[in-house]
Amino acid sequence: MNKNLSGEHFAHVSVGSLAAFRGKEFLKDALGTTGCELSFGSLDPDQSVPFFHDHKQNEEVYVILAGEGRMQVSDHVFDIAEGSVIRVATGAARNLKAGASPLVYLCMQSRQGSLQQCTMDDGIITDTPSLL
Ligand code: ZN
Repeated sequence: MNKNLSGEHFAHVSVGSLAAFRGKEFLKDALGTTGCELSFGSLDPDQSVPFFHDHKQNEEVYVILAGEGRMQVSDHVFDIAEGSVIRVATGAARNLKAGASPLVYLCMQSRQGSLQQCTMDDGIITDTPSLL
């Protein structure tokens, strides 16, 4: 993971090309997040995560970035592919298995039930001059 320019109010890291990404990278510490954990993961063809797992208090959202495969949540099994977005609540074991090509995904973990407001309920339009 590459750490790029960061400031008082932001952190910027990169895992590089997602098509070429392999392994598992957790980003909470590198980004300094306080409300969620993010991780990139990949699975080689026909590989699954070596264990099923559940979470005590965090829900997870999986975003499939490349490839295709299958996901199991409790006793439900379904196909997943690039563009799939899957939320898994607490109280359910989950796992992923890649199909014929590598599966690359982003997993976002946050405390279930913690979201108080979002989008423009939480956003504030500012009059900041653009330096872009
Ligand atoms: Zn998890």
